[in-house]
Amino acid sequence: MKSTDGRKTNHAAWTCTWGDDHRAEVVHAMDADSARRSCDGYADGYGDIAVKRSPQFDGLSGAELTRAQMADGWQMPCTDCEHELYGWGRYDGDDEIHAEPFVRPCGAVYCDRSCYLAHARRLGRYAGNRVGVMIDATERWPGIEIVHVIGSAYSGERPGGPVGQVRLRFPGGRYPATWGRGDRHVYVAQCDAAAWREYAASIPTKDAP
Ligand SMILES: [Zn+2]
Repeated sequence: MKSTDGRKTNHAAWTCTWGDDHRAEVVHAMDADSARRSCDGYADGYGDIAVKRSPQFDGLSGAELTRAQMADGWQMPCTDCEHELYGWGRYDGDDEIHAEPFVRPCGAVYCDRSCYLAHARRLGRYAGNRVGVMIDATERWPGIEIVHVIGSAYSGERPGGPVGQVRLRFPGGRYPATWGRGDRHVYVAQCDAAAWREYAASIPTKDAP
């Protein structure tokens, strides 16, 4: 019953609504109870889930479903930015921008094509930063084992902002240390300070990355 791949779904469509701000999902299910159950996870802590049969969404998924929802008066957030989108467009402050939202085949909706491209670039940068920080860490600190990578999608957009960090185990250390891409310093547990100095002294000197 996933509505992400453009395939027709067999079951009936239901609109589940919950919370003070009327969050809602369209789900395809055999009956109202199973529709409600499939939204339990989202609505946890927001009170009761109201379920309404929505024949106008029967068999729709992906972009078709998103377009039908917007034609039905739904308001949806842009996948990339903070704008709330309507079938006719969006507000920018008090101004109405009449521009049909850009809907991807999977159903994700954006203000327009440029919001979609910005999102795609950010995802690419995020992946690049994750790989980049692993490569840099491995070259800079021989013999380490990377235990966790924290990527960042935002390098270049926030000057001085994080561009990816790794948690790494180093020879002789008891706890993982933290190193950010381009950082001169490594953050180590207090009890590991001596072990780090010893490890760092053992690295052949070369230019810092
Ligand atoms: Zn947007």
